[in-house]
Amino acid sequence: MVSTTRIALSRSARNHRHRYARHRSLSRKSFPSNPLLRDFEFPPFDVVEAKHVRPGILALLKKLEGDLEELERTVEPSWPKLVEPLEKIVDRLTVVWGMINHLKGVKDSADLGAAIKEVQEEKVKFQLRLRQSKPVYNAFKALQESPDWNVLSDAQKRIVENQIKEAVLNGIALEDGKREEFNKIEQGHANATPDNGPWVITLDAPSFMAVMKHARNRALREEIYRADVTQASSGDIDNTLIIDQILKLRLEKAKLLGYNNYAEVSMAMKMATIDEAEELLEKLRSASWDAAVQDMEDIKHFAKSQGAAESDDLSHWDINFWSERLRELKYDINEEELRPYFSLPKVMEGLFNLARTLFGIEIEAADGLAPVWNSDVRFYCVKDSSGKPIAYFYFDPYSRPSEKRGGAWMDEVVGRSRVLSRDGASARLPVAHMVCNFTPPVGTKPSLMTFQEVETVFHEFGHALQHMLTKQDEGLVAGIRGIEWDAVELPSQFMENWCYHKDTLMGIAKHYETGENLPEDVYKKLLAARTFRAGSLSLRQIRYASVDLQLHTKYVPGGPESVYDVDRRVSERTQVIPPLPEDRFLCSFSYIFAGEYAAGYYSYKWAEVLSADAFSAFDDAGLDDSKAVQETGQRFRETILALGGGKAPLQVFIEFRRRKPLPDALLSRLVSRARGNPISFEV
Ligand SMILES: [Zn+2]
Repeated sequence: MVSTTRIALSRSARNHRHRYARHRSLSRKSFPSNPLLRDFEFPPFDVVEAKHVRPGILALLKKLEGDLEELERTVEPSWPKLVEPLEKIVDRLTVVWGMINHLKGVKDSADLGAAIKEVQEEKVKFQLRLRQSKPVYNAFKALQESPDWNVLSDAQKRIVENQIKEAVLNGIALEDGKREEFNKIEQGHANATPDNGPWVITLDAPSFMAVMKHARNRALREEIYRADVTQASSGDIDNTLIIDQILKLRLEKAKLLGYNNYAEVSMAMKMATIDEAEELLEKLRSASWDAAVQDMEDIKHFAKSQGAAESDDLSHWDINFWSERLRELKYDINEEELRPYFSLPKVMEGLFNLARTLFGIEIEAADGLAPVWNSDVRFYCVKDSSGKPIAYFYFDPYSRPSEKRGGAWMDEVVGRSRVLSRDGASARLPVAHMVCNFTPPVGTKPSLMTFQEVETVFHEFGHALQHMLTKQDEGLVAGIRGIEWDAVELPSQFMENWCYHKDTLMGIAKHYETGENLPEDVYKKLLAARTFRAGSLSLRQIRYASVDLQLHTKYVPGGPESVYDVDRRVSERTQVIPPLPEDRFLCSFSYIFAGEYAAGYYSYKWAEVLSADAFSAFDDAGLDDSKAVQETGQRFRETILALGGGKAPLQVFIEFRRRKPLPDALLSRLVSRARGNPISFEV
């Protein structure tokens, strides 16, 4: 209630009257005591507690269950009788579940965790029921075949097509006997996770890397390296048979659905095709190779200069160690010494200024307008050039180890939607949240960031911009919704590029006490460190992506070639030093066997190409030409940031770049390293 008063006070008199009237009519109807069941403009994050979760979610699911039954009873192949009621059901569940899930991330407690666990299964059950609704599926099919189809907008057509495609991938179109078979596979190893098994993992990555980078004892490095590449591959803990079983079931699933292989299933809902992904990987591979060979020469040379006995015979367990020594010497940027140049308020100011320059938006503090879950959380309003609010976001900057998950992320609170209009006239405005884990301020000393943290906040803000600057009114494809998985990192990685743009960086990097600029040589080091060993790192990602695609396209489970043979074949072309004969890294490659990356690992490189190419549009226009930058920024806003999932991502990209994506911008970073540009390391 307090927040409603605050909202009214902070708005114009006209808005005040309007809100007051609505509030009165609402309270006459009913005002549920459980905050999860209330109607709200901004979620009541300040009052939701663990005790509300079970009764709130169960009551919500019951209501939505009724809504779904009603929809199934009255459904017609038309927008108002099919998609609008469906969007309302999907949205309500997404928003309310999003609220409690968000609180679990930022204000966790044993009670909250237990309460969510209690209702999790019911929620999943309802989602399955929703996804497998035959009447809804049939109505979508009928809509696609009706005369109405031609009058639908592009975005509406995409919604219909995606709903049908997803339902088909969920086995809905199968005949009864085949669906039984399909469901059996779904319950099998196809959805293996490290938590659910049967996948097993042993070594943990941070300690492994610490040894590989820093242990001076070469024999120890060798021992740990060998243990790593052979883990979970023999004796009691052996993933070999599980891998084959997973691949076999995935292939069976693909065949049942009428596809040739599992990669086709995975890519049915992605931007890339198998051929395009393979072609891109090969292009990047051949461009990375010489640079990686040069990287190896560099560290050989360097190890020799340091009197290392192994310098003529460097092996896998020496590479990380010597490259880390070389990095220390050449580019070591003391993160701690850099912190005073990156104070959080200054960084955010710079980020908001950049958004104004590029996209013509104003970001204003709006603290008090919406309830928050912690007093450090800031709330902002995003306005367009005419001063009209178009979106809002929360920013939760500081770490709180006792209740907040580590890392950084962005997510939607609510999305833009015409159907869910608050006033019956204009679309509901999007609201996002950004969560980071930066060092809290101490006394008068502001929060000071590492350069990597600066990149992180630019990255998350890129996601938030795509959610907030959407002009898409169809809620199911507005903002970040409905965007293909391999295209969704475009705006975030695009924003990261600006951290290396001199004027942008120098604009934010000012010493918080003295106001002095970041020294020029430090800026140069930051640039150089970005491409240090880029060829080698790129080859490693390409090995993972290629073996992933091969195993999900051509590989025949139980056939003449083993999964290790496939990996060896890929490695010959992606590793400068051939792998050890006993290398069984696939046994710990959980991303593709127990994670979501099956036939999707290429996405990392795919997104890098898109974002580098998008950024190069600004390079081409001239980064020093402010008019050109503004024009290009506006075009980025009107396409990549505005269209959401309402248009195929390739079309969106072409509208921005006026041509198809090219890997050249990313390649140029690798090639410049390879072209006779060895690192000098005189001490
Ligand atoms: Zn991201």
